[in-house]
Amino acid sequence: MSLLSRLHTQFDAALASGHLVFTPSTCVLVNGRHIKFQIRFAPSLAKKPTGGLQPQKKEITPFNPFLSPEPQLLVESDLSPTHNILLNKFSVVKGHTIITTKKWESQSSLLKAADFKAAWILFGSGNEGEFLGFYNCGPLSGASVPHKHMQFIPVKRGSLEDGIPIDQLMEDAQRTSEPFVAVVIPGLPFHHRAFFIPNNSTQDESFFKDVEMAYVALVTGAFAAKPVGVVFGETSNQAVSVGKDEAGKSEVSYNVIFTRQWMIVIPRRQELFEGLSVNSVGFAGMLLAKTQDQVDQLQRGGVERVLAGVAYEPHVEESKF
Ligand code: AMP
Repeated sequence: MSLLSRLHTQFDAALASGHLVFTPSTCVLVNGRHIKFQIRFAPSLAKKPTGGLQPQKKEITPFNPFLSPEPQLLVESDLSPTHNILLNKFSVVKGHTIITTKKWESQSSLLKAADFKAAWILFGSGNEGEFLGFYNCGPLSGASVPHKHMQFIPVKRGSLEDGIPIDQLMEDAQRTSEPFVAVVIPGLPFHHRAFFIPNNSTQDESFFKDVEMAYVALVTGAFAAKPVGVVFGETSNQAVSVGKDEAGKSEVSYNVIFTRQWMIVIPRRQELFEGLSVNSVGFAGMLLAKTQDQVDQLQRGGVERVLAGVAYEPHVEESKF
């Protein structure tokens, strides 16, 4: 049975045995300037533990469900020497998957080649389906678990309700972009940096190292362009130390969204905007709402305003479109 089939079979079993909480969401489409946003109303989110990441206190927090994952949620521990693949206990969409490091690493640390190698196990798992990957990094990013984890939701590319709302902007930008080179995507309503991944890449060690290096350049470039009160070093070595959990060092917060074809890094300035919590998927155009009031608030207030409010306004070069 393929990894994708096992994910879905185990999802159904965990749901039936009560080890997983899932409430189907309803989707409302909202027109932005260049993006048709999906607002997903998911009451199951109200049952999920909150708490967030506390800066400088992550190692002593008692909440770490990823060091010993629940067996009913653990889908794969053998495919990677360094990572586990498990189901999200509080799923917003069917097949919501998490890849964690087997050993403790901080959710505020940078992603590495080994993390991307594990992500590509899932990306490579299906002709039947594709995934949007994301990483909520740092205390203001919307993360709730301090142990390093990337998340993945299945997507149907091209579908208005189940696709990735920013896909068309990404496709348009890809035509004029060099692989692995940091660019801005015209039309994205928040400050960011992005790169594209070549289609025909051989997924060997050097490929994952290329992804890691390009990602570090995105983090560095995105923050260097913004006054966030964090001092960034000028060399890439110093850039690699950004986000590491060192005493006395400011922690940066940002979101990463990625597919097999592209990656985007979005620096964060706050977790909430007018009471709404936004995590990585918001920047792919998918907003989550726990209550009908929040759905109304997003429709009324303009999703773009919320995204720029938790991140940063796009630069002139990003918004001239
Ligand atoms: P984040 O909130 O971005 O840190 O992502 C952590 C995810 O872990 C959330 O989406 C939770 O729903 C999920 N989660 C919480 N507890 C567990 C658990 N025991 N097993 C699997 N997933 C969990």
